[in-house]
Amino acid sequence: MSSLHLRGTVLPDGDVRDIWVLGDRLTFTRPRQASTTVHDGGFILPGLVDAHAHLGHDPATMTFDPALFTAAGLGYAGDGTTLLRVPGHRVPIPPELRNRPDLPRLVTAGPWLAWDGLQDLDDLQTVPADLPAAGVAEALANDGWCKTYGDWEFDRPKTPEPVLRALCDAVHAAGGRVAAHCQTAEGTRNAVLAGVDSIEHAWFLTPDLLTVLAARGGAVTPTWTGFVPHVDVVRTKPEGPRKDWFLDGVASLRAATVDAWEAGVTVLAGTDSLGHGDVAGEVGHLVAAGLPPAAAVGAACWDARRYLGFAGIEEGAPADLVALAADPRVTPGVLRHPSLILLRGRSVKRG
Ligand SMILES: [Zn+2]
Repeated sequence: MSSLHLRGTVLPDGDVRDIWVLGDRLTFTRPRQASTTVHDGGFILPGLVDAHAHLGHDPATMTFDPALFTAAGLGYAGDGTTLLRVPGHRVPIPPELRNRPDLPRLVTAGPWLAWDGLQDLDDLQTVPADLPAAGVAEALANDGWCKTYGDWEFDRPKTPEPVLRALCDAVHAAGGRVAAHCQTAEGTRNAVLAGVDSIEHAWFLTPDLLTVLAARGGAVTPTWTGFVPHVDVVRTKPEGPRKDWFLDGVASLRAATVDAWEAGVTVLAGTDSLGHGDVAGEVGHLVAAGLPPAAAVGAACWDARRYLGFAGIEEGAPADLVALAADPRVTPGVLRHPSLILLRGRSVKRG
């Protein structure tokens, strides 16, 4: 069997390199077996990442549907998005879907775990009797992550800091990490101070909280894609606290995105999509917010991979990569036009 060979400018380092693909692994050493050159020139970057995806859930019923999951996963792969973190899913993702060679790799976190004092939950959330024990169980049963809430609704009780701290301490002691939905000033503050690793949606972050988060290697996932389409509609609504909360929250994202990056917090690109999320679109939102294009691409690629424990283009790394004609750090829009995608060492046919 011949191996695949690529040559190009490897990102983010910027070195021109020869890369060979042996099964599901990359190597910089020419193998003894024959190789077929599938790409020469341009730029080569690791596979893209959607760090906040809920693919496979029916938008009407929020039930998990393997057919929807498969269609969305194939869509992601066709874009060059080869790794998905799934912070909340109704049922364990079946192994035959996790391991399908044409579907993206997954970092799952189990169901949406909520503190029992939150009100107006929909039937999406799971309210365990023992939140820390449930968080540990999900982190161990999944890929080292569990998902919870700093808040739910702007005018309801927020998850108290001690509750979140007990969860974080237990999950961290088991070697896991915690992602928390945070859309209020109090919920966000409680989550950051309690030790949550990844602040999802990340509304109302303040400089002092970003300093705390950066010091422990934390991350934010602003999920612009989930909010931007609603802004114009919400502006037409009657005045009131809900409207103010939403518009103020989205407005706070701009500073949180850029200030977070400047403070040294890892910024992650996440679409919060129930189906096939548009990662290149989220990169566009990050750039529009003021993030330097190189940082925005990193948030959807090498920085997100590193944060989630996946190598970039390195000796022995998983064979997930995207080849582009132009430098996405200069022209992020080129992410929409990959000239070659490899997932698990196999060439992905584009839809
Ligand atoms: Zn979500």
